[in-house]
Amino acid sequence: MKAMLLRKTANINTNPLEYADLEMPSPGYGEVLMKVKACGVCRSNLQVIEGERGIPPKLPLIPGHEVVGIVTEVGEGVTSLAVGDRVGAQPQFSVDNTCEYCVSGRENLCINSRRLGWSIDGGYAEYMIGYANHLHKVPENISDIEAAPLFCPGATAYRAVSTAEPFPGKKIAVFGIGGVGHLAIEFAKISGARVTAVSRSPMHVSLAEKVGADRAIISSEEDPVSVIMKDGGVDSSIVFAPSDEAVSQAVRSTKKGGTIVIGVDCKIGDFKFMNGQTIKSTVVGTRNDINKVLELASLGLVKISAAEYKLKDANEALRLLKENKVEGRIVLTM
Ligand SMILES: [Zn+2]
Ligand SMILES: [Zn+2]
Repeated sequence: MKAMLLRKTANINTNPLEYADLEMPSPGYGEVLMKVKACGVCRSNLQVIEGERGIPPKLPLIPGHEVVGIVTEVGEGVTSLAVGDRVGAQPQFSVDNTCEYCVSGRENLCINSRRLGWSIDGGYAEYMIGYANHLHKVPENISDIEAAPLFCPGATAYRAVSTAEPFPGKKIAVFGIGGVGHLAIEFAKISGARVTAVSRSPMHVSLAEKVGADRAIISSEEDPVSVIMKDGGVDSSIVFAPSDEAVSQAVRSTKKGGTIVIGVDCKIGDFKFMNGQTIKSTVVGTRNDINKVLELASLGLVKISAAEYKLKDANEALRLLKENKVEGRIVLTM
């Protein structure tokens, strides 16, 4: 099978992913073999490839962790899936189901999770192994390209918006409108919130408007804090922009007693305890979150901004992402 293989971490400008011919994997107990149809290109793939997250535990490695494919072979012990099922895989390949996080409904924090495109080969390939208990059947009315991003940005955005506890009329600001941010705007709108979108890039601000933001601010042209504070600030902010400055703007744009939800690594900066604010972080989502996302998408309530690239062009796709030139999500097809 063909796959984009990472032999050692390196700057994306050096084309570290090699279009390689590899042996087909075969599914073990509880696993299935999937013929990959689509795999989203995530900023965290870029971080893994460039070594920003340390040396991956598995090398050589096939990146990719938001994957839709067709089951072509079923391993021993699998009863929930059959050959021909169209399924999606998320960043967590599997969890232990027993740690304190798993048993308290927070499996996204599992301390023994195996991760696709990190400790397990991922979806930048024609075939991939999936763990049956962590795969979801994809509703028929969602295309492969629209479905793949639901499994990482979709779940991430959904969990972040839930953490911001939206309700009708609540004022929520989303900082950073890329593959995840545009979906956060949509979920916040579905919940009835009034949404302000903030991004440095005019391209992303127009995407925010397209997906229903009530107000969009280009932060490289005007100061979002003064615009937002003019009408009293927001009740909650959600940050997906990988920027300390965006986090600081979010804290300063949020009302006293409000919540700032953070989905990126960052430095918090000045934080006034007298304002009684809460800072929370979220990472990916649980299987339950993904089920909700798939349900909303099958009802036609989620619009994915996705551009299709061929598998062998993954290096190029990742470069565009690094240069902030991707509107929503790039999805690789095989
Ligand atoms: Zn991802
Ligand atoms: Zn666990």
